[in-house]
Amino acid sequence: MGDMNVVKVEAYRNSFLKEVEANVEGGQWVKMCMQCGVCSGSCPLGSAWDHPPQELFMMIRAGKREEVLTSSSMWMCTSCYNCIVRCPRDLPITHIMHGLAHYAERLGLAPKNQPTRKFAKLFWNNLVKKGRVNELKLGVALYFMNGLVEGIKTALKMAPLGLNMLKTKRMNPLEYVGGHGIKDAAGLQAILKKARAIELAKAKKA
Ligand code: SF4
Ligand code: SF4
Repeated sequence: MGDMNVVKVEAYRNSFLKEVEANVEGGQWVKMCMQCGVCSGSCPLGSAWDHPPQELFMMIRAGKREEVLTSSSMWMCTSCYNCIVRCPRDLPITHIMHGLAHYAERLGLAPKNQPTRKFAKLFWNNLVKKGRVNELKLGVALYFMNGLVEGIKTALKMAPLGLNMLKTKRMNPLEYVGGHGIKDAAGLQAILKKARAIELAKAKKA
């Protein structure tokens, strides 16, 4: 567990709802949930989640901090917005799902092998390197996301598609070594570093 998690446990002992309100995007809305279950019933993936949105809100109010923050559920939100348009209390459910996932990540509690989390990290690292997504590198990284053996199997399965893309000039293999980017990638990285420092300082105060 990261240091930030220890600080937050101390600061919000026995008050997980207050912690969510202060640290999670849209968290101040959780207390407005009337547990009607419309969001969970409307979520196209809800039946596959360990804890669909309505249940997560109940657990937050019940102080089930660890179960919520280590859950894989909120990482499965696809931002379809079905829940938001149907919630009779107008809760920004989608934003709260992403806010919970982000907060769990900051605290070092997010499940390490959660596929969406792994993809998000690969995508972000790929993007910030040069300020543009290198699709070829991202594709290869995704093939090998779950290890060498699975990566080789996936690469072999996708080889015919790759060859067709090469033939039709839809893929340039040289992108893998160089790749295009923005003019001032170092400037972008400096901005992101500063933004991260500001966010961290704010999070420590909350
Ligand atoms: S639809 Fe809204 S009020 Fe109903 S359970 Fe979901 S968040 Fe709560
Ligand atoms: S936005 Fe997320 S939580 Fe809401 S219905 Fe869609 S997948 Fe489910």
